Amino acid sequence: MILVTGGTGYLGSHAAVALATAGRELVIVDNLCNSSASVIGRLKRLCACDVQFIQGDVRDTALLSEIFLGHDISAVMHFAGLKAVGESTEMPVDYFDNNVNGTIQLLVAMRRAKIKTLVFSSSATVYGDPATLPITEDCPFAPTSPYGRSKVFIEEILADLHRAEPDWRIARLRYFNPVGAHESGLIGEDPAGIPNNLMPYVAQVALGSRNAVNVFGTDYPTRDGTGVRDYIHVMDLAEGHVAALDHLEQAGGLLTVNLGTGQGHSVLEVVKAFERASNRPIPCLAAPRRKGDVAQYWADPSLANTLLHWQAGRNLQQMCADTWRWQLNMADTS
Ligand code: NAD
Ligand code: UDP
Repeated sequence: MILVTGGTGYLGSHAAVALATAGRELVIVDNLCNSSASVIGRLKRLCACDVQFIQGDVRDTALLSEIFLGHDISAVMHFAGLKAVGESTEMPVDYFDNNVNGTIQLLVAMRRAKIKTLVFSSSATVYGDPATLPITEDCPFAPTSPYGRSKVFIEEILADLHRAEPDWRIARLRYFNPVGAHESGLIGEDPAGIPNNLMPYVAQVALGSRNAVNVFGTDYPTRDGTGVRDYIHVMDLAEGHVAALDHLEQAGGLLTVNLGTGQGHSVLEVVKAFERASNRPIPCLAAPRRKGDVAQYWADPSLANTLLHWQAGRNLQQMCADTWRWQLNMADTS
């Protein structure tokens, strides 16, 4: 059985589906600070199996120890954490407490229970503004926010743990830009308030709940002047987790891999693809560059391709189509 922390959130819920599809049993722990327990019912439908849910915080080691005692857990996928870059500059201590301390408490409980297999959600933000493209895993750390630094600190802690106790099996997965939703339209990203990220914002403009997309920067040294990112379908990302877990179980070790497609798309390309997917016009307004943004980056995913025998297979059009289906479903049910 796999423990999925943060499993009612955006990425964790999709990983739960991928795990169940791969025949794994799972239990979810989440404190619901950025998600809703209603996801569990939808997960049960999608997984066609029982999905156990425990509401709680990963910083509560007593609770984690109790969960490990009461379930036959062999590995943990650790998604729980705070993820808003801007917010992290305003409340850095909360970010370090939730992300770094949360991971330490999880490790303490895992160690106590002798569970030593962990798949960790890291981020391409650990690379900052990269000197060369595409980004390979040996690019140096250069985080530009407390959020990014929290991921670097955790990665370093995990490396130190593995050096001290090589029987741990740890994957540090560096995600590029996860977007999209499960193709059923039953689960997806549901950001509270005004979305920070491009794809959910574009979806809300297509729906008519926002007027226009503010394009942050039209003078970048990119092919159309707008920022370029490596968008990856959330189900590809989820399947990458199952591949990483399989790899750890067979080969052990400390695994550090990029999860991306290797292809960059500009803001305007995303908007155009979404117009096609939704068959609706999406007005855009040129806006100043967003503080802290870099012009462009994309992954070199070849390590994940060869080592994990995993490759992102869904294209930008599918990412937009699945986001749109989810957005329409949410609008119907709200
Ligand atoms: P999310 O906010 O949708 O999911 C995180 C979940 O963790 C939420 O359900 C939240 O309620 C829960 N949570 C937060 N703190 C917790 C705590 N202390 N104890 C228990 N539960 C807690 O975010 P997401 O997009 O699914 O991201 C999951 C992980 O992936 C995060 O660690 C994030 O930093 C990382 N990541 C996300 C992205 C992205 O673009 N979504 C990119 C790179 C890395
Ligand atoms: N972006 C934009 N308008 C928005 C949100 C984002 O133009 O409302 C741009 C942003 O400047 C970047 C790209 O879209 O070039 C992806 O931004 P997102 O926040 O989704 O991801 P991140 O910047 O974290 O990679």
